[in-house]
Amino acid sequence: MRRLEGKNALITGGSTGIGRATAIRFAEEGASVAINYRSSAREAEITLDGVRDAHKSGPGKGMLVQGDVASEEDVRRIFAEVLTAWGRLDILVNNAGIQAANPSHDVTMDDYDRVLGVNLRGAFLCSREALRHFLDRGGGGVILNNSSVHERIPKPQYASYAASKAGLAALSRTLALEYAGEGIRINMVAPGAIATPINQEWTDNPDREAEVAGHIPMGRTGEPHEIAAVFAFLASDDASYITGQTIYVDGGLTLYPNFRTPWS
Ligand code: NAD
Repeated sequence: MRRLEGKNALITGGSTGIGRATAIRFAEEGASVAINYRSSAREAEITLDGVRDAHKSGPGKGMLVQGDVASEEDVRRIFAEVLTAWGRLDILVNNAGIQAANPSHDVTMDDYDRVLGVNLRGAFLCSREALRHFLDRGGGGVILNNSSVHERIPKPQYASYAASKAGLAALSRTLALEYAGEGIRINMVAPGAIATPINQEWTDNPDREAEVAGHIPMGRTGEPHEIAAVFAFLASDDASYITGQTIYVDGGLTLYPNFRTPWS
């Protein structure tokens, strides 16, 4: 399917994991893709190669844009670089995200602020720049946010992460309502447990992965391309009447798995 033909997309945190898979899927669907990365230029180049491979049969373009989404100055520059190169942006995917684990009573405020800074402030900074551009040029646009099942499920020892994703959900719904009349759609994908570098703790350990999979009704962890497919749907006109929603892509993790077996 080439549902994104002629569209220009910016994906934050596109050098690895779900961001990489989404960049390549968008390119397969015909979009030109700007790949933001913060520090891993080598990994970002691998994503760009994937995007260029996917474009072999079409006119789509790819570019890299370095920058920290938590920095207002960097975000302005990221958008300026993309708009200078391409003149127009149609789709923003706020994908960049980090997490930090610690018992909450031991968390340093630096760690707490860092997680909120990337996951929530970063998504707002990028959304604000995208909204300014969409309003300026008219004709609407799409903003997609990478949330998490932890926008709903509590995650002990990851309070900053859970708070950032719940905040992102409230932010998305608020912006969706605020700009629905301008033809701007804003939605979220909430992944469950997906095999990416953020989950190295279990991706590198088969016993731990089996433990994680044991909590998932479908009996397995997810792959980045399974998230990318949903981002592609939400970015496309197939989702033209959807805004302010979260789609959970989690193998049933949010279905209260402990209730699988009836008990009285
Ligand atoms: P990942 O670690 O591969 O991807 C995160 C990306 O964000 C990395 O490329 C990283 O370099 C980038 N990044 C971090 N800080 C940044 C900053 N300040 N500026 C720009 N880029 C920055 O892991 P992933 O699983 O692909 O994560 C992508 C998103 O998916 C995150 O928002 C994460 O919270 C969300 N998510 C992942 C899972 C999962 O199980 N993998 C589940 C739910 C939600």
